[in-house]
Amino acid sequence: GLSEDGYGRVLLKLGGEMFGGGAVGVDPNVVGTVARQIAEVVAGGVEVAVVIGGGNFFRGAELQQRGMERARGDYMSMLGTVMNCLALQDFLEREHDIDTRVMTAIEMGQVAEPYIPRRAIRHMEKGRVVIFGAGTGMPYFSTDTAAAQRALEIGCEVVLMAKGVDGVYTADPKTDPTAERFDAVSHREVLERGLKVADATAFSLCMDNQMPILVFNLLEEGNIARAVRGEKIGTLVST
Ligand code: UDP
Repeated sequence: GLSEDGYGRVLLKLGGEMFGGGAVGVDPNVVGTVARQIAEVVAGGVEVAVVIGGGNFFRGAELQQRGMERARGDYMSMLGTVMNCLALQDFLEREHDIDTRVMTAIEMGQVAEPYIPRRAIRHMEKGRVVIFGAGTGMPYFSTDTAAAQRALEIGCEVVLMAKGVDGVYTADPKTDPTAERFDAVSHREVLERGLKVADATAFSLCMDNQMPILVFNLLEEGNIARAVRGEKIGTLVST
């Protein structure tokens, strides 16, 4: 849980859309910002695992709308997430000299290790950043769900949900000027009020297992470090 010193092991979830800077492909400015912030946190001795989405390449549900079979579209989309992982690995290793391992839920030995939970933990204990690719490896799921599942399995204390907004609001702040941000909210209240934190599968995994979720703005420099230190930024969802 959250101590005065912050967290010791965290899972950082990055949306693919943000990673692509709003376009198809990878935005080096965003990847650079993220890598710099992760490097700062790792230097402080915190163990970091990362899950990256794939919305900047494909989403299975959207491919299905265009006539493709859903599961095949989902596999294409999962492969997209791996490209994001490799980009982050490159920035972490070459700009910051941080050892990094990409572990994928679909085997592809030339570019990544298979996801083996105990090995992932070992990597983190050695100070390596572990980046999980290909989501859960299963169609019909999401990278939010992968984030929740991996966080639980490898013993992370919190899921840091990096977004383009600075937390959870009572309504959409872009369309509703009366929308207010929560500093803290319980899992139950999120459900009862129908607030948007993660998809239902991911959220119920967290709720059922008392996994806290911190929703915060990624693009404010230094925010990952603030989140890890347990500073009051964004919205903390906890039991
Ligand atoms: N996906 C999947 N199973 C998973 C994770 C992801 O099938 O376990 C597919 C799904 O099509 C999803 C896409 O990969 O829409 C990209 O993941 P996500 O939508 O979670 O990415 P984000 O919205 O975070 O960019």
